[in-house]
Amino acid sequence: MKAHNRSSQTIRDYDNKYYMHPWEGMDSFGQADRTISASAEGIYVYDEHGNRLIDGPGGMWCTQIGYGRRDMADAIADQVMRLSYHSPWNTASEPPAVLAKKLADLAPGGLNNVFFTTGGSTAVDTAIRYMHFYNNRLGRPNKKTVISRDKAYHGSTFLSASVTGRDRGKNFLDVDRERVHLLPDVNPLIRPEGMSLDDWCAAKVKDLEDAIVALGPDSVGAFIAEPILASGGVIIPPNGYHKGCMEVCRKYDVLYISDEVVTGFGRLGHWFASKDVFDIEPDMITCAKGLTSGYLPLGACLINDRIVDPISGPDQEGVMFNNGYTYSGHPVACAAALKNIEIMETEKILEHVREISPYFLERLHSLRDEPMVGDTRGIGLVGCVQGKVTGDGDSYALDQQFGAKVDEKCEEMGLIVRPMANMCVFSPPLIITKTQIDDMFDILREAIRQVAREFPQAA
Ligand code: PLP
Repeated sequence: MKAHNRSSQTIRDYDNKYYMHPWEGMDSFGQADRTISASAEGIYVYDEHGNRLIDGPGGMWCTQIGYGRRDMADAIADQVMRLSYHSPWNTASEPPAVLAKKLADLAPGGLNNVFFTTGGSTAVDTAIRYMHFYNNRLGRPNKKTVISRDKAYHGSTFLSASVTGRDRGKNFLDVDRERVHLLPDVNPLIRPEGMSLDDWCAAKVKDLEDAIVALGPDSVGAFIAEPILASGGVIIPPNGYHKGCMEVCRKYDVLYISDEVVTGFGRLGHWFASKDVFDIEPDMITCAKGLTSGYLPLGACLINDRIVDPISGPDQEGVMFNNGYTYSGHPVACAAALKNIEIMETEKILEHVREISPYFLERLHSLRDEPMVGDTRGIGLVGCVQGKVTGDGDSYALDQQFGAKVDEKCEEMGLIVRPMANMCVFSPPLIITKTQIDDMFDILREAIRQVAREFPQAA
C-alpha cells in the first residue's frame, strides 16, 4: 500500500530534503534510507513494499492497544466535530475534565491533581517547575536541585534534557547541570563480584542519601526516577530500591517524581507501576505515550494533594502556577485517552499483560544460550537483549553495532526492533498474543545467529 498515494521515491526525497527527524544523524542528513511506514493494524506495521513487520518497540513504547482501531478513529472524529479546541486558560470542557477524574481514580492515593501537557518532556518540565513553585511558595527559594541518575532519559526540552543522564543525549547539546546532580548507574549487572542484590540496593539508596547530605538538604528539591530505566537499556533496579529512595526523600523533605512515561498504562501490567509494582506513592507522576496508545500526543503530570493543599486556598490570593501550553487538555487528545482507557478496561488488557508477560520473559531469557548474547533483562512487556562485550579491537566495534546489525536482519524477516548500541529493546503492543511472541523471538534468535555467523570471531 502506498502512503497517501505518493510514490516511495517522492516520500523519501521530501523526507530527506525537508524533514529533520528526532536525533537526526548529521552524517546521513539528506541521504538517509529510512523504511517508510505505510500503514498499520494490530501489532503489525506495513512498509512501503507491503511487507508486514511485527512492531517490536510498540512505536516508541506507546502503541498499547495496537493500530487501526475503528472505535478510536470514531471517538476522535466525534470529538473533532463536537469541539476541536477551546482555550484551557479560561474555559472547561468535558473530555479533559472527565479524563482528569479518571486519571485521579486510577492513580495511587493522593495523586488527584492532573496537569495536562503535550507529551512526556513537557510533563517532566511541569513536574520540575511545580517543585520550583512549591518551594518558592513555602519560602525555600534555594531548595531547587534535582537529583537524577546516570542513564536516565527524561525528555528533549532544555529542562528535561538537563535532568537526563544518558550520554548520547548530552554529547552535542548544552544542558544546565548547575542545579542537577546525577547519581551513578543502578544496574545490578555492574555490581562488584560477590555482592548480593540486597547490598547493592542498600548501596544505591545510600548514593541518594549521600548526595542529599553532600549537596545540603536545604538545596535539594526533587529526586526524579523512572521505575525502570527504559531508554537507558531496560535497567531494573533491585527490589526495594524505590521504596528505600522514597524513605530518604521523606527524611530530607525532597519531592519524589516518578517518571512513568514508559511504565504507565499497562506496560508493567498496571495503570501505574509506582504503587502497584514498586510500592511507593510519589509526590508527582509524569505520564504520556500509552495514555493515548500513540493515537494523539498527550501527557500529564499528576500532583499529590500532599503538595497542593499547603499552597492552595483562599489565602493564596493572586498566586498562579504560571505554567501551561496552548494544547494543555486538548479535547480531542483527551477524548482519545478516554477511549484508550475504556478499551483497555473492557478488553482487560492489563490482565492480559500480567498473564502473558511470564511467557514473554521466558522467551526473552531463553536467548541467553546464544553465544553473542551477554544479558537479557525484562519486566512486564518490556525486554532488552544486550550483546556480549567481547572487549578488544574489532569485536568491540562489532559489539557496539550489535543492535543495528540484529535490527537489519530482523527487519528482513518481518520484525522491527529498537537498536541502541549493543542492545535491542522490545516493548510490543500490549495486545500481543502468545503465538505472536513466538514469532517475534523466533525471528530475533535467527537474526542473532545470522549476525554471529557473519562475525564468528565475536561469538
Ligand atoms: N520520560 C521518559 C521516561 C521517556 O522514556 C520519554 C521518552 O521516551 C520522555 C520522558 C519524553 O517523552 P516525549 O518524547 O513524549 O516528550
